[in-house]
Amino acid sequence: MVKEAKVPMPKSRFLKVKCPKCKNEQVVFGCATTTVECKECGEKLSVPTGGKSNVIAKVLQVLS
Ligand SMILES: [Zn+2]
Repeated sequence: MVKEAKVPMPKSRFLKVKCPKCKNEQVVFGCATTTVECKECGEKLSVPTGGKSNVIAKVLQVLS
């Protein structure tokens, strides 16, 4: 279980993340209930874990 994100994960927030694989920047929903994949390379950026998202990608910014 890798836990890198130090940014708190509030509900109903959009997160700007960077794909660890292809460096693509993408905005994902902070409490998505489905797996979010990078639109460029298909790498998993965020997976749902019991109601909130476990963001795998590097979080650049939390958008309110
Ligand atoms: Zn990617």
